[in-house]
Amino acid sequence: PQLFDSSLAEAWIRAIAAAVEKERARLTELDSAIGDGDHGSNLQRGFAAVLTALEGLRPTDPGAVLTKAGTTLVSKVGGASGPLYGKAFRAIGAALPGPAGPAALADALAAGLDAVRALGKAEPGDKTIVDAWTPAVAALRDAAAAGATLPEAAAAAADAADRGARDTVPLQARKGRASYLGERSIGHQDPGATSTALLFRALADVTAA
Ligand code: ADP
Ligand code: MG
Ligand code: MG
Repeated sequence: PQLFDSSLAEAWIRAIAAAVEKERARLTELDSAIGDGDHGSNLQRGFAAVLTALEGLRPTDPGAVLTKAGTTLVSKVGGASGPLYGKAFRAIGAALPGPAGPAALADALAAGLDAVRALGKAEPGDKTIVDAWTPAVAALRDAAAAGATLPEAAAAAADAADRGARDTVPLQARKGRASYLGERSIGHQDPGATSTALLFRALADVTAA
């Protein structure tokens, strides 16, 4: 599809829930290395609650779906990632009052990143969600500016998020629990950056379908 509309927003959330379910063990393993081992279960529980919350919702715009997802994540997920992803989805939702093409979707996802940064105060390079989300938004913007289709732009964003997540391996964590480890956080991929890469891959998958 060429426009990110309410049915695509719902498909995106369903694809995220499926990806988080599938990758739960891996996310937990990554968080066991440099955190408290709950990232997989936090997100699995959160997105399962989001699916329940979406039942019976008959959204007319993509923003309604994503705002509902965000509100649910804030209320159901503890830890750092619940409020961060929750506020991000609320911000994305607020920025999508109607169907969006690549440029408007890039703006909405940039608003999501701004929300993460406003709450978490992480800079790029701090080994967090921000390290996957920032290059993904940049790639989406560049692709949109170059006239890419929605699936092309989303694929570029997903690839950039994957690279951003992998590039967290050599970094020392400066925010969140992993920062308590100091130099011992070096050499491990950040769980949150990894789950952000899953979000962008899910977006690429549903727009390509
Ligand atoms: P907790 O660490 O509270 O158990 P999770 O395990 O669900 O929460 O999430 C951990 C992830 O949250 C980290 O891998 C990191 O990417 C992200 N994170 C933690 N603090 C911040 C922050 N201040 N800004 C952005 N992301 C953060
Ligand atoms: Mg954790
Ligand atoms: Mg925790």
